[in-house]
Parts: sequence; structure tokens; C-alpha cells
Amino acid sequence: VVYQPIVHLASARIHKAEALLRWHHPQRGLVSPAQFIPIAESTGFIMDIGEWVFQQAAHQVAQWRAAYGADFQISVNKSPVQFHRPEKSTATWSEQLQSMHLPGSCIAVEITEGLLLDINQGVSHHLSALQRGGIALSLDDFGTGYSSLTYLQKFDIDYIKIDQSFVRNLQPGSTDLALCRAIILMAHELGMQVIAEGVETAEQRDLLRKIGCDYGQGYLFARPMAAGAFEALMAQQ
Ligand code: C2E
Ligand code: MG
Ligand code: MG
Repeated sequence: VVYQPIVHLASARIHKAEALLRWHHPQRGLVSPAQFIPIAESTGFIMDIGEWVFQQAAHQVAQWRAAYGADFQISVNKSPVQFHRPEKSTATWSEQLQSMHLPGSCIAVEITEGLLLDINQGVSHHLSALQRGGIALSLDDFGTGYSSLTYLQKFDIDYIKIDQSFVRNLQPGSTDLALCRAIILMAHELGMQVIAEGVETAEQRDLLRKIGCDYGQGYLFARPMAAGAFEALMAQQ
């Protein structure tokens, strides 16, 4: 698991990190999650992988909360498959955090719009269980799915992550800037905070800050990195 900083734009400080999975294959080298996650989803192996990533992140956030402050948060991507197959043997994530004496708010679960469109009772219960445990909910890749706005009020979402395809072409006067501004306004009106993904240039960061975006994540700040490198970066901050 590698960690990518999420930067609070107004203060330029790192408050959060996203946990991202890496697979170092003995023959193929580094395999991208975009390649192996879909296969893990179709075979069901994502259940075990997802549990393992969560446990790594939970142990990491326990250390980083102690070092960097009690509001430090790590987000974990959760595949729709993990919601559609009821967890049988393992304790729920809230229970696992409780047994580690961690508040739910130290973890955010990143879900995609597709999950909320294809909602059933099981998924609904699963989401409420996370939220009852205080775990935050992030809507990943926002704007690329179906963008049905009805679910935004149906579920208590804490963060919207604007997809990097909107951030890539941010320029003064561009339609992408207008879209980002509208997403941010809407999110704030609904009591949500906004994280922009794929921030690669200082110009993008400045525009996002100007239109009130709360957080930024992207190569401009840092690439996803091993825990040790993350700690070195925090030491500089
Ligand atoms: P995501 O959750 O949207 O994660 C953000 C992706 O954007 C990451 O790719 C990250 O490395 C990349 N990224 C960050 N900043 C920049 C930037 O400035 N420019 C560009 N071009 N890209 C940037 P990564 O790590 O390859 O992960 C790809 C996707 O795989 C993730 O997209 C997520 O959907 C999935 N994934 C990764 N780890 C996990 C996991 O543990 N569980 C599940 N279910 N899915 C995962
Ligand atoms: Mg994500
Ligand atoms: Mg994303």
C-alpha cells in the first residue's frame, strides 16, 4: 500500500492521505491497480485484498494520528463488489477500528457513483453501518459516472472528489473551470467538502483555491509513496 498526500489548499498542509494498492509482480514488475482490481473483482478475491488494505490503513493511521494530530485521516477505496457481497467472517470496519481504540473518523471510504445508483437493501445497510461508526464517505471520480443528483441528498456524503479529467484542462474561462466551480458551490450548499484529484500544475492549484476548493491531491504535491517516504515528507512540513 502506498499513500498519496491530500493537501488542504488554504493552508497548504497535509491533512489526509489516500491509500492506493500496488502489486510488485516477480516477472511483470509493477502492475497497475487499473489492471488487477477488475480481475480481483470478477474473481471475488477483492474481498480479501480489500480487508487487507483496510487493515494496513488502520494500523498506519493509528501511528500517524499520534504523530500528526488527531484529525489525520486515511481514505481507502472500496469496490462495489465489497458492498454487494455480505461480509461473513470478518468484523465490520467500524468494529475493527473500535477494537483498536480508533474513532471512525480516522478512515474515509471512497466509493463511486455507480454504487449509489445500483443500491439495494444490503448496500444501504452496509453504508449506514459505516456511517454509524463515524467513518467518513467520499464520492470518488465525481462527474464521470451518471451524476444523478438525487442520491447526493439521499446519502450522507462527506467529501466529493472531482475527477482528474475536469482538473486536467483547468484554465481561466474554461468550461471545466465553470463545472468545477458549480460542483464546489453545490457541495458546500449540501454541507460537503471537495477534494480535487490529479492536480499537476501550480496554475490548477491556484484556480482551485480561488474557487473555494477545500483539498487537492496530485503529482504537484506528491506522487503516491511508501509510508517511510510519506513520513519524511511530513517531517519537512
Ligand atoms: P482513484 O481512487 O481515483 O485513485 C487516484 C488515481 O490517480 C491513482 O492511480 C493515483 O496514483 C492517480 N493520480 C494521483 N495524482 C495524479 C496526478 O496528478 N495525475 C495523474 N495522471 N494521476 C494521478 P492508481 O494508484 O493507479 O489507482 C488507480 C485506481 O485503482 C484508483 O483510482 C482506484 O479506483 C483503484 N484502486 C487503487 N487502490 C485500490 C484499492 O486498494 N482498492 C480498490 N478497490 N481500488 C483501488
Ligand atoms: Mg480513490
Ligand atoms: Mg479518483
